[in-house]
Amino acid sequence: MQLLDGKLVSETLLADIARQVEELRSAGKKAPHLAAILVGTDPASETYVASKVKTCKQIGFQSTEIRLSADTPEEEVLEYIRSFNSNTDIDGILVQLPLPRHIDEQKVIDTIDPKKDVDGFHPVNVGKMVIGQPTFISATPNGIMLMLQHYGIDTAGKHCVVIGRSNIVGTPMSILLSRNTNPGNCTVTLAHSRTQNLKELCLQADIIVAAIGRPAFVTADMVKDGAIVIDVGINRIEDAGRKSGFRLVGDVDFDAISRKASWITPVPGGVGKMTICALMYNTLQACKARQSLTY
Ligand code: NDP
Repeated sequence: MQLLDGKLVSETLLADIARQVEELRSAGKKAPHLAAILVGTDPASETYVASKVKTCKQIGFQSTEIRLSADTPEEEVLEYIRSFNSNTDIDGILVQLPLPRHIDEQKVIDTIDPKKDVDGFHPVNVGKMVIGQPTFISATPNGIMLMLQHYGIDTAGKHCVVIGRSNIVGTPMSILLSRNTNPGNCTVTLAHSRTQNLKELCLQADIIVAAIGRPAFVTADMVKDGAIVIDVGINRIEDAGRKSGFRLVGDVDFDAISRKASWITPVPGGVGKMTICALMYNTLQACKARQSLTY
């Protein structure tokens, strides 16, 4: 088994982004500026936003972080987005999901200017992604594509089973892997909670992408020898031995499956790191486009 090491790959790619930021600065251009909005105090969301802001600092981006209480009215959140849309210094806007129930998630996404939608969730950007036009591609699936590309993994003609059909992970992943690109050109099966015979389908898969949100859902008896296993899941499970009281595990049974897989991503240190990296690439791209530079 070989590790698809998101930490290592993202360090290399982030260094490349930092170098491009330096080039912008030397050319008298402004550095990318990412604005992040966090509503509520969900501990996982707080961690994600903190690490995105930290990464911005590391690579020379400017960042603005807005933290709002869980009972913030929807209109106030939309007002922040509109003000960021019209702020010429801000290149990218992200609103950390999930949002409290009283806020309409789709309305929030629709309010973001598609040219600043660096998460790639706006319908305009999703539509462009589907028909293969250049656009912001949702960070998690794009991060996985960057990782496959980095390791030179040949995906053409492979059967890929994507488990999970969310708008932010599973569905865009299935589209990207099926496109006539490299990586890509897979024959894709998109599985979900109503899929029958999931185990049989997985046993036919050369590549499994697990994006379910259930600890160790994919077990070794579902994976054929030599398969490539990509674990998107980030689940907190109690661990009294840790200072934090929890540890992070993925959607696949890493220990057992790593004895069968040819390549596998760890959790943490796999897809999560690549997601942040892809978000930073999108923000750099937005910044360059706004300054009319080619990406
Ligand atoms: P969602 O809850 O939006 O989607 C989960 C998907 O899993 C749904 O499509 C659901 O099917 C499917 N599912 C649930 N139970 C089963 C089952 N028994 N068999 C088959 N499919 C099932 O989750 P997300 O896509 O947002 O996230 C998935 C995981 O990835 C989570 O752990 C999340 O924390 C993590 N994540 C990690 C990121 C990273 O950077 N590494 C980024 C984003 C998410 P149905 O549609 O029928 O309900």
